[in-house]
Amino acid sequence: MTVAVVLFTSDLRLHDHPPLHAALRAADEVVPLFVHDPAVHAAGFDVPNRAAFLADCLADLDASLRERGGRLVVRSGPVAREVRAVAAACGAAEVHLAAGITGFAQRREERLRKELSADGVALHVHDDVITALAPGRVTPNGSDHFAVFTAYYRRWSRERLREPLPAPDTVRVPAAATGEEPPSRARPADVSPGLAAGGETAGRERFADWARTDLAGYADSHDDLAGDATSRLSPYLHFGALSPAELVHRARTRGGAGSEAFVRQLCWRDFHHQLLAVRPEASRQDYRSRGDQWRGEDEAAEDITAWREGRTGYPMVDAGMRQLRHEGWMHNRARLVTASFLTKTLYVDWRVGARHFLRHLVDGDVVNNQMNWQWVAGTGTDSRPHRVLNPVLQGRRYDPDGTYVRRWVPELADVEGGAVHEPWRLPDDRRAALRYPEPVIGLGEGLARFREARGRQR
Ligand code: FAD
Repeated sequence: MTVAVVLFTSDLRLHDHPPLHAALRAADEVVPLFVHDPAVHAAGFDVPNRAAFLADCLADLDASLRERGGRLVVRSGPVAREVRAVAAACGAAEVHLAAGITGFAQRREERLRKELSADGVALHVHDDVITALAPGRVTPNGSDHFAVFTAYYRRWSRERLREPLPAPDTVRVPAAATGEEPPSRARPADVSPGLAAGGETAGRERFADWARTDLAGYADSHDDLAGDATSRLSPYLHFGALSPAELVHRARTRGGAGSEAFVRQLCWRDFHHQLLAVRPEASRQDYRSRGDQWRGEDEAAEDITAWREGRTGYPMVDAGMRQLRHEGWMHNRARLVTASFLTKTLYVDWRVGARHFLRHLVDGDVVNNQMNWQWVAGTGTDSRPHRVLNPVLQGRRYDPDGTYVRRWVPELADVEGGAVHEPWRLPDDRRAALRYPEPVIGLGEGLARFREARGRQR
């Protein structure tokens, strides 16, 4: 009887799972293993929203495996130690794993390779699991990564992605593979009340429903804040409950402008991964320094608190920040506006904002979060690094009748139409009755400070 272990990490699904597929082909029995590693806890990644969503994903994976005659083996401890222990107990000759991109994932892979080889167990690392196309698969002449999205997208689009793999019919797990109680879906009190349900099953249902109703119109509707018509698949992609390659395949099979616009967004995900894979320091340092002397936690403490709590006095900013707290998720347009406001209008270090997002976002990951923050701050790959988004104009354009703002800022629920974006223009007596804060800064003042700061550097 041959045995293989599949170590699940950011790929918590059964459909389109190359490591599982390979293990099932190679061995009679397979151990589907997930390890709660204290190093993840120490690094601060397991914040309440993501921990709750992860528990959903694990419970769902376990249930899907049980439908196929198997089960998920969950253990806690240093990952290499646990994998070795399971492999030894079951007599496994090989371990399969999806290639990771972050520094953390790369260190894990190195350690596994070293320790498993000492035991004579082979480690097989599979590409194109966490991204649609593995980082480094396409590169421009003379560089190890693309620094311009449109060039990457053009090249990426010409690549042929592998065909998606079906979920297995049967998984036989050796009795010697022991672990903890199956994960529970109970939601602790510190989780955002509007957090979505996690897991591959929920993610697949979400994609199927959304593709039926909103995919065709996505090119036109993705910036409509009130319409809320984006896929909301980012947390499922973050945990790998959905396969990016399969989503690209399914969208392209449907065809049309909406599908290609959606595929283009998925390509942004791969773009950031291929960048961070070769520039891991960009998760902490400016990818392109503009010589900024950012304001930090001490200098800008009051402004930062107002921003975090959604009390800046700018309704578009406050709506986004409150959506983040309530759902553990924020619409992309609101992420752009809130991040621009913090980094450019308030001139606060992008790392302060990135940390706050990572604390709350259910889809929060170092790759997409840090690289998007850098993009907005103008230290990343944006070709117009000094642009500043005006929250009033953004509100008028992407939430013209103010529905999004009223949804998230109840103090403004009685202000009709687009007037909600400029409460300071209301008559004094009405304004006083609203109990909504005055703007923390004038937009002109913020713009002047930012331009001066950047101008000094040029
Ligand atoms: P859709 O519009 O339906 O897009 C489909 C998928 O494409 C998304 O699920 C996502 O996986 C991918 N995608 C879309 N836009 C981007 C983008 N700009 N960069 C990378 N991938 C993208 N996304 C994260 O997944 N995790 C983060 O931590 C994260 N932090 C962000 C921080 C800031 C300041 C900004 C401006 C954006 C951030 N994004 C992040 C990107 C984007 O906002 C979210 O992916 C998107 O809002 C998720 O909603 P959706 O699934 O409905 O997206």
